[in-house]
Amino acid sequence: MEFRDLKAQYAALKPAVDGAVGAVLSSGRFIGGAPVAELEGALADYVAVAHCLTCANGTDALELALLAWGVGEGDAVFVPDFTFFSSGEVVPLVGATPVFVDVDPATYNMDPASLRRAVAWVRENTGLAPKAVVAVDLFGLPADLPAIREVCDGEGMFLLEDGAQGFGGRIGEARACSFGDISTTSFFPAKPLGCYGDGGAVFTDDDGWDALMRSIAVHGKGTMKYDNVRLGMNSRLDTLQAAVLSVKLEAFAGYEVADVNRVAAWYGEALSFLGARGWGLPLVPDGFTSSWAQYTVKVPEGVDRGAVQATLKDQGVPTMVYYPRPMHRQPAFDGVGLCPDGCPVTCELCGRVLSLPMGPYMGRDDVERVAAALEAL
Ligand SMILES: *Cc1c(COP(=O)(O)O)cnc(C)c1O
Repeated sequence: MEFRDLKAQYAALKPAVDGAVGAVLSSGRFIGGAPVAELEGALADYVAVAHCLTCANGTDALELALLAWGVGEGDAVFVPDFTFFSSGEVVPLVGATPVFVDVDPATYNMDPASLRRAVAWVRENTGLAPKAVVAVDLFGLPADLPAIREVCDGEGMFLLEDGAQGFGGRIGEARACSFGDISTTSFFPAKPLGCYGDGGAVFTDDDGWDALMRSIAVHGKGTMKYDNVRLGMNSRLDTLQAAVLSVKLEAFAGYEVADVNRVAAWYGEALSFLGARGWGLPLVPDGFTSSWAQYTVKVPEGVDRGAVQATLKDQGVPTMVYYPRPMHRQPAFDGVGLCPDGCPVTCELCGRVLSLPMGPYMGRDDVERVAAALEAL
């Protein structure tokens, strides 16, 4: 069994993907061009925002947003303690200070109460200016963005939605990557919408930030490429990846998000016995829709997670631990980041989470096999 079955997806989409790739190869144009512009239009329509700008990866996308806002030295940026490294990495890269905030024990997403406390603590105990919040849609589930928006508006902070894992998710009818002042995603192959290499995108309704990020992404270009009006970066999505993504977006919007939710429902039924054994199953709050970047369970306290992984592996069931270490304990943030409350929920989750095989191309038999392997533990 694959942890995320990208081969099955290619088998299903092969004629369309091969055709799209072949068309780019024949065109001889590999940077920019119509495939990139068409994809950006389709992505903006799907998310229902005014602008989408594609870039080289999801990490650059986050950095583009912070640079467009002028976030830098003396600014505090609030980041969940339980996330992939990138969400926090970009903050010191632009010269600002990451402040790590704890997560909700049921959704694993940023806890708005912990955020409020962290902002108050920064105002009282540091000379830093609270400037922005990076709200991560972890494992496919949108963060509590309405509550986080309220905190941002009250404190005069920008909201940056990191939808690298949440693309395709929703709150009500509003899609992930539409909640931030700027929102970002990643097209890393294993993300909900992945390409065949690295890729990313930023989304915004603001014309000015869109224009600024388009400049920053291409060496600070002005009216043309050799008119450089500011320092920028070189961050573009390859034409080949754009062509692949246009095909994949159609499948994603057409049936993959629905299919992966069906797989999640099968898991919910097949794994219901785990609750009585003290395991935790994923929770999707009322009104929220996940795009299931991961299906992550929580092993009971005192159970040896490594041994569980080894037993499952022997039975052909691959698993992963996302994430084994709180952000505030990453050596790279030593002396760089702040963590006002020690993030006890994150510390516990890091010792207990376990992600199971997941994806829209899994069959019910695959789910039953994972369940049987867990039942036999
Ligand atoms: C993957 C990921 C990123 C970074 O995306 P890349 O395309 O790998 O640079 C950022 N944030 C989160 C939450 C991610 O999972």
